[in-house]
Amino acid sequence: MYLPDFDYYAPDSLAETCEALDRFGSKAMVLAGGTDVIAKMKSGLLTPEILISLKKLENLKKIEYVTGKGVVIGARATHNDLVNSPILNDKYLSVSEAAHHMASNQIRNIGTVGGNLCSAVPSADLPPILIALGATIKLVGTNGERMMLLEDLFTGPMKTLIAHNEILAEIVIPDQASTGSNYIKFGLRRSGALAVVGLAVAVTVNGETITEAKITIGAAAPTPIRARETENFLRGKIISDDLLAEAGVMASGESKPISDIRGSAEYRRDLIRVFTKRALRKAINEGHI
Ligand SMILES: Cc1cc2nc3c(=O)[nH]c(=O)nc-3n(C[C@H](O)[C@H](O)[C@H](O)COP(=O)(O)OP(=O)(O)OC[C@H]3O[C@@H](n4cnc5c(N)ncnc54)[C@H](O)[C@@H]3O)c2cc1C
Repeated sequence: MYLPDFDYYAPDSLAETCEALDRFGSKAMVLAGGTDVIAKMKSGLLTPEILISLKKLENLKKIEYVTGKGVVIGARATHNDLVNSPILNDKYLSVSEAAHHMASNQIRNIGTVGGNLCSAVPSADLPPILIALGATIKLVGTNGERMMLLEDLFTGPMKTLIAHNEILAEIVIPDQASTGSNYIKFGLRRSGALAVVGLAVAVTVNGETITEAKITIGAAAPTPIRARETENFLRGKIISDDLLAEAGVMASGESKPISDIRGSAEYRRDLIRVFTKRALRKAINEGHI
């Protein structure tokens, strides 16, 4: 499988990048780490004539804490940047852990957060945990900037609301006190396997009461989904093992997984039941610290 011919352009600024995307239209495509794009070009699934690389946009690699805003992750941060970030290890270990359980070390060294979100693969590992944490994203285009909730980005498998001349610039995880979070992935191998189910929770606690809960399920629908009925059920309830088990049954009932080569719908629903309970318990323990 040979890579077809293409032109390559690496602009020096975000503005130039958006202008280039505008100018070249559907012939052009954004290239971040290339782990998705290059593989698809080799297999003929993508045929861009021009690849516009983000590699000179150093500003998009930062991971920083901004007071009053939260943790800001540049779209070019690699999975291993998330794994090794002292800020994420301190504030949102669940995000570092989700990145750590992805792919191989080589892929984690070049694959980016932006690429993981923009490729909109239903089994991708970062959307569930970032959605559960209420992340927002900043899109930059030739007409300016816009912010949206990450959970509103996805419209179907490999489909998002990002316009052709827009770049995902950053992801912001807002501050949330007394909140613990957790992501559990089940793949068919211990490492380097896509998620059969990926389940993330973020739980805010006040003493023994759950004041807010967000549950996001990946690989169980065309896009990541929130288990909203279960979230509503948990809000205001006193924490107990029975409560968390009941939440697992509810979340499983809310999911609509399909059967495919990696697992049956029934198996996925059972994973969701067990993971919901387990992830809630871990997140609650973290939220109490
Ligand atoms: C062997 C292997 C194993 C893998 N394992 C996993 C896994 O376990 N879990 C998982 O979730 N994924 C996995 N992946 C998928 C892939 O590595 C990730 O989704 C990765 O994060 C993609 O990032 P990238 O920077 O390489 O994206 P690219 O390939 O460069 O781009 C992907 C898509 O996003 C667009 N894009 C990229 N950045 C931006 C931006 N900032 N703004 C606008 N559009 C943008 C590109 O145009 C393209 O459409 C695996 C891939 C391989 C090859």
